Amino acid sequence: MSQSNIIVALDYPSADAALAMADKLDPTRCRLKIGKELFTRSGPDIVRNLQQKGFDIFLDLKYHDIPNTVANACAAAADLGVWMVNVHTLGGPAMMSAARQAIGSHHDAPLLIGVTLLTSMDQQTFDAIGLQDTITDTVLRLAVLAADNGLDGVVCSAQETAMLKTELGSQFQLVTPGIRPTGSAKGDQHRVMTPSQAIQAGSHYLVIGRPITAASDPLQKLIEIETELNA
Ligand code: C5P
Repeated sequence: MSQSNIIVALDYPSADAALAMADKLDPTRCRLKIGKELFTRSGPDIVRNLQQKGFDIFLDLKYHDIPNTVANACAAAADLGVWMVNVHTLGGPAMMSAARQAIGSHHDAPLLIGVTLLTSMDQQTFDAIGLQDTITDTVLRLAVLAADNGLDGVVCSAQETAMLKTELGSQFQLVTPGIRPTGSAKGDQHRVMTPSQAIQAGSHYLVIGRPITAASDPLQKLIEIETELNA
């Protein structure tokens, strides 16, 4: 198993493209995230093929359903041998604890991570669906609920990391996208942090996509990020 805290987002529409990118990377230097598009097109075989190349897999399918359905989906992910899996905390306490029970707590069980509010949700959307409170208070409340119901951590923006670390302690795993190494294009991400800023704020794992996958030499970019983190 890799010791790296860098998770490369394989946002590709086909197994071939994902495998070609994986071949440019090194499983001792990163883990890989498979999301809904790649999984829906390529299925569990892409997970197995990448695992055979030595990569740990974060299966980013953000399960959100009734407790029994989510528990069974999490058990299926655990059977696939993924390293990390996630659920929407908005599914509530019973759903989260059913997921925890299904996955178990033994040392090689996948890390069970919650999504609080999607960062695409702005105040206008938040109001439109009838949620009260501020976004920040809601993120904190959902993260506390995740911790209370046995989740190992949450996905959060780098801006939320310090608050969540203070409130939930340093063992609660914080997984942070929206990372841009110095000099990388922001693309469609708005509020970004560099890898070292995010780690200093308390992130445990950094999800990085295009700064690595769109680089002319992805492995070299990964090594540059590692160097920056170890400086
Ligand atoms: O290419 P980039 O580094 O922006 O990719 C970030 C990855 O993290 C993408 O797979 C994106 O879907 C995911 N993500 C995100 N923001 C969130 C949750 C997930 O960018 N709040």
